[in-house]
Amino acid sequence: MDSGHMVRTESTVEVCKYGCFAFLLLFLLPFSAARADEMKSTVIIHDSRIDVFIEAAAAPLSQPEVMKWVESAAESVVAYYGHFPVPHLTLRVFSFDGSGVRHGMTWGREGGLIRIDAGSRTSEAEFADDWTLTHEMIHLAFPSMMGEEHHWIEEGLSVYIEPIARIRAGHWTARQMWSDLVRDMPKGLPREGDEGLDHTHTWGRTYWGGALFCFMADVEIRRRTKNRKGLEDAVRGILESGGDIRNDWELQKALKVGDQSAGVDVLEKLYADWKDKPIMVDLPAMWKLLGVELDGTTIRLNDGAPLAAVRRAIEMGTPGNKTGEGSAPPKSGGVASRPFAVFAGRTVGSN
Ligand SMILES: [Zn+2]
Repeated sequence: MDSGHMVRTESTVEVCKYGCFAFLLLFLLPFSAARADEMKSTVIIHDSRIDVFIEAAAAPLSQPEVMKWVESAAESVVAYYGHFPVPHLTLRVFSFDGSGVRHGMTWGREGGLIRIDAGSRTSEAEFADDWTLTHEMIHLAFPSMMGEEHHWIEEGLSVYIEPIARIRAGHWTARQMWSDLVRDMPKGLPREGDEGLDHTHTWGRTYWGGALFCFMADVEIRRRTKNRKGLEDAVRGILESGGDIRNDWELQKALKVGDQSAGVDVLEKLYADWKDKPIMVDLPAMWKLLGVELDGTTIRLNDGAPLAAVRRAIEMGTPGNKTGEGSAPPKSGGVASRPFAVFAGRTVGSN
């Protein structure tokens, strides 16, 4: 908690969202000789600061809409990890003439840097549905892999965790997530000629193969711990041990710290199996165990399925899990009740 910033909230307008996330609109920074097409706003979220540079030279962008989108993504990441992954993120938003969000990229330099393109005709609903920025922010919460062959874990974690994080912040629904996973997870299965995750660098195996690894690890950690722990405990442990994007780690170190944090040796064993062999997963059997049933073209969630409790814990976290305080729905309090602040204004100079 940064009490210095909190003191500055006295003369502010306060808006509460989702019951407990308080947004504090603080003040407009003064104009000076700024570039007319660049606007800087700052979000304070717990002890972290996000400086948002909106570069709208190509097409106009609505600063309030962009900031709402940024806040929503940051909330989601906090809901999963318990806090924002890095103390200071620089987020550069570039406009284009059109709609939607494109080309997100994340780096560990400058304390954490994301650049992303947003269309000038993106509707409020499109911003609300966007997954890209949450995906990029999740990259901040895992160390940069020293080996290029381990890129799949970086993408896999972001692909797998992004919808869960958005569900926990109230920005997405479980039904939508499972529906998407039933459609997309088969893209991560090994095809003919596959040589395991460390040696098969196709798009499907990198993004969805990595996500499949994370999904199977999450289910297995929950099964092994009788649903007391999940993948979130592993990745939070990695983050607490200094494993954020600013630091280069070996994959083996991250998996070891993750297993120690969850209290079961799931990640290291799964990696040993999957790294250089094409391991098939019976996805229809997994959906059935979890109670994810395709009913015509819609998904039905069956709470009577053998692993329905695991499915619900994936969605909303383990009830009463102390390390999972951020996993609770925002209305139940915990970390989500801490203030969240926005400084808005125009910037100057060469930021
Ligand atoms: Zn990514």
